[in-house]
This record gives sequence, structure tokens and C-alpha cells, in this order.
Amino acid sequence: MAEPLRQLVLVLGDQLDLDAAAFDGFDPTQDAVWMAEVAEESTHVWSSQPRIAVFLAAMRHFAVALRQSGRPLHYRRLDEATTRESLAAQLQADIATLQPQALVLTRPGDWRVLQALQAVATKAGLPLVLREDRHFFTTPADFAAHARGRKGLRMEYFYRELRKRFGVLMDAGQPLGGDWNYDAENREAFGPAGPGFDLPQPPRFEPDALTREAISLVRERFGSHPGRLDSFAWPLTRAQALQALDAFVRERLPLFGPYQDAIWPGEPWLYHAQLSAALNLKLLTPHEVVAAAEAEVRAGRVPIASGEGFIRQILGWREYVRGIYWTRMPAYAEGNALDARHDLPGWYWTGDTDMACLRDAITQTLDHGYAHHIQRLMVTGLFALLYGVEPAQVHAWYLSVYVDAVEWVELPNTLGMSQYADGGLMASKPYIASGKYISRQSPLCGSCRYRPEERVGERACPFTTLYWDFLLRHEQRFADHPRLALQVRGVARVGDAERERIRTQAVAIRAGR
Ligand SMILES: Cc1cc2nc3c(=O)[nH]c(=O)nc-3n(C[C@H](O)[C@H](O)[C@H](O)COP(=O)(O)OP(=O)(O)OC[C@H]3O[C@@H](n4cnc5c(N)ncnc54)[C@H](O)[C@@H]3O)c2cc1C
Ligand code: SF4
Repeated sequence: MAEPLRQLVLVLGDQLDLDAAAFDGFDPTQDAVWMAEVAEESTHVWSSQPRIAVFLAAMRHFAVALRQSGRPLHYRRLDEATTRESLAAQLQADIATLQPQALVLTRPGDWRVLQALQAVATKAGLPLVLREDRHFFTTPADFAAHARGRKGLRMEYFYRELRKRFGVLMDAGQPLGGDWNYDAENREAFGPAGPGFDLPQPPRFEPDALTREAISLVRERFGSHPGRLDSFAWPLTRAQALQALDAFVRERLPLFGPYQDAIWPGEPWLYHAQLSAALNLKLLTPHEVVAAAEAEVRAGRVPIASGEGFIRQILGWREYVRGIYWTRMPAYAEGNALDARHDLPGWYWTGDTDMACLRDAITQTLDHGYAHHIQRLMVTGLFALLYGVEPAQVHAWYLSVYVDAVEWVELPNTLGMSQYADGGLMASKPYIASGKYISRQSPLCGSCRYRPEERVGERACPFTTLYWDFLLRHEQRFADHPRLALQVRGVARVGDAERERIRTQAVAIRAGR
């Protein structure tokens, strides 16, 4: 009789690391690995084709690596006739066949999935051993300890604690270079000539046979989902991810800081890392990404302003949003502090709008499954905030369209940072601006039928109209907000007739007129 299976190690689509905590103590003679491609992970939100393809193709490459490492693997493919719809249903069925004595899992990226798998384990009467994920510098418990007793949370304080604790960019107990933050030297826009012809392009990873197979499956099975696969070239293995990291720190990191907030049409990557998907799939660890960036700074090849600005995104924001997620779920997902109730305009799924900045950001998103942070925060996110879209719908859109979207990182960024739906837990004020902000960061207004400086009339920029409408709608709420005082004072000077014109125009925008 075959030996009973001691442990079934569950590996989810965003846990693709042979050294993950779930493999600690793995014994191929007694243990096995379980992976499953199930439709629900692509349909619980209307996942874009690039996002589904990244997950499926990366999982299939990881399955090869697992087999090569000699670990017994039970892998369910989406195109097998008997594959169940959900992870929970598939696991339940496989437990019945494989009869493991215990389940082991690294903390997943999604509260919903953890609940579902825990419920299966309970029903089967099996222990589910949950291991903390080593692909972060901190654990949810570390964040809870940091948050305990504080009146307000700010990323900057958490980040400084982590700089000290992990000795990142530190020099004899002091921040390297003397300052914690060099953003005053960052955040430039390109001149009228743009980023120039020598803009370094990130490496492209042309689909191999395994990836092409996954792409065909996505086209066949999810062809009605948003997004396109023609230019698909994401890193999908650890070796490719390391190559992408190396190219980034050598070629683009030096100018990451200055052009972090710039937008240029037709140039989706600019000086950004394009590493979020690899990090979130766990093909890379944040420790090695931070170490690679720090080494360039210390070698004098990257200015401290760029290096620190980049490291802050990973050691600061990435850890901070995860802490918020795991310490605030599930209530966090319900937040709607500004009582926003409108539906997401349908053109978010097609890019079919006259607003040049939104058309550019959404088209690029559908083509590549990528937009950089300022496009997400200050174009698509800003418009939804000013328009008053229900936060749950904004969340579903962001979770669907980006190849790096996993709920632990997407939700706090969307609900908290971008929509202020958590009432100011993530961001100290709502990120609001008129079309003039976009015209400073990009040349897009020049090719748009609207004018960023006009708030009413035929050519008024919808961002600008809705910005003033937002201030009018929330004048009382933010009257005493220290960081919005200037904007609120500005709206107090607007007379009754002009207020009416702004409101009428905002109503027309929402009605699609
Ligand atoms: C509304 C909204 C939704 C977002 N959804 C996601 C998401 O689903 N997945 C995701 O990984 N990031 C998300 N972000 C954060 C950020 O926009 C992306 O991490 C970044 O654009 C990825 O591109 P990049 O790798 O070129 O990053 P860079 O700009 O080069 O930054 C380097 C790395 O820092 C990390 N990082 C940067 N900003 C953040 C942040 N705010 N929160 C957490 N990590 C950060 C990422 O790992 C990123 O790869 C979102 C931001 C907003 C405003
Ligand atoms: S004018 Fe307004 S809508 Fe047009 S590109 Fe500029 S900010 Fe966007």
C-alpha cells in the first residue's frame, strides 16, 4: 500500500518561489505540491486578458521548475474537463483523492482566498498550517505593533523604522546622505522635446511555447474579457525576472527619481522598474531588489535621490499597504467615506473617450496590463474620485486590468490612496487636482479637445469641472482640513452663479452629454 501523504503544500498563482516558506521541511518522499488553474480566479472580477495570461503562463513555468526540483506535483489545468470552477471546490475534490494528513500554505495575497481555503480544511477536518510570507520585509504582526497606540498612520514613519531595522541606506545610524527623503530633487516633467530617442527600453521576453499555449487558452476561454495580448512580453520565470531587475538598475534607475511623475504618450515604461508583477508573483524578493538598488547608489552610479525614491516605493509603500490590508480586512473593502455612488463609466473598459489623458492611460493599460503610478493615481484614479464613482467599482476595475494586481496591494492603493474611501487612513488628504496638474506632467492636453484651465463651457476640461464640483460637494467636510485649506479657501470665493454653472456642467459630464 502507498505511504499516506504527510503534507499537501498549496501553491497559489502568486506564490511562485521554490524557497517559499510553505516548502520549509518539504520531504519529496512524504509530501506533495498542489496547484490549480481555476476559472473563478479570472472571473470573480472581470480579469483582463494580459493579467490572466501572466498568471497562467507563470504558473506553468513554475510547474516545470517544481518537477525539475524533484517535488511531486498535482497540477490542475484549466483546460482539463474535470477541473472545478473555484480553488475551494478543486481542493475539496483533490483532498478526497489524495488523502493528505495536513495542508500547508504561505499566507496568500487575498483575504477571500484564505477564508475559502480555511473553510475547505475545516470541512475536511484537516489542519491548515499557515506560514508567513518571506517575500516581504515585515509581517502583518509587525505592522500591527507599529500601528498600536498611534492616533494616525503615516507611511513615512513606518518606512524610517524599517530603514533602521534593516540597515537600508543607513550610515552609522543616520540616513545615508543626511536626509530620509530627497523628493525635493525628484518629480520633474519632460521638456517639450520629451524623453528623447535614447530612452532605454526594458527587456522584452518574447513568449516561448509554454506561454504561447497559455495565451491561446486565454484567447479561447476569456476572449470577451478586456485587454489585448499582441505585445505580451512579461518576465515569467525567476531567470527572466532577474534579467529585468538587472536591466532596470543599470539603465533606468539613475533617472527614476526625476521622471517618476512624468507622463509621455506612447511611452508606457519611461524610467519605471516594470517589476511589480515579478515581485508580486514572488519571482523576485523585495530584499534583492532593494539590495540591487542600494548597491548602485553606494557605487556612485545612481544618485541618492533616485535610489532612495525607488527604495521607498518598495521598503515603504509596498510594506505599508500590505500592513493596512491584513490588519483592516474584511471591513476595509467596504469603505466609502465620501459616499460616492455613481457607476464607473463604461469607457473605462475600452478607452473610448475624447479625454486624451484617459484615452492614453486606458489604451496602454488594455494593451500591456500596465500603467505607471501617476497614471493610476492622477489620471484614472483621480477622474473616478472627482466623478464620484462607487469605490467598490473602482476597486474591481483596478483588480481586473493590471498584471500586477493582487488584492493586498491593489485594494489599499485604490480604496485608500486613490479614492480616499477609508477616510484618510492611507493618505493624509484626498489626491485631488484639476486638469492643470495633468497639463504640467504631460503634453497630452495639447492634443485634447478640452482646455485644462477652463471649468465651464464647451471646451472645459472634465477634470477641472469635476475638481471644482468635488470641492463644492465636500466644502463643509474639508473646511478644517489642514492640508486642503488652500483649495477650500479657493472654492469659498466662487460666487453663487458660477457654482450653479459648475454643478450643471458636472451633471452633464456624468450624464455623458
Ligand atoms: C489606484 C492604484 C492601484 C494600484 N494597484 C497596484 C497593484 O494592483 N499592484 C501593485 O503592485 N501596485 C499597484 N499600485 C502601485 C503602483 O502604481 C505600482 O506598483 C507600479 O505602478 C508598478 O509599476 P513599476 O513596477 O514600474 O513600479 P515603479 O514605479 O518602478 O516602483 C517600483 C516598485 O515599487 C513598488 N510600489 C510602487 N508604488 C507602490 C505602491 N503605491 N504600493 C505598493 N507598492 C508600490 C512596486 O513593487 C513597484 O514595482 C497601484 C497604485 C494605484 C494608485
Ligand atoms: S484637457 Fe483635461 S481631459 Fe484633456 S488631456 Fe488635459 S487634463 Fe485630460
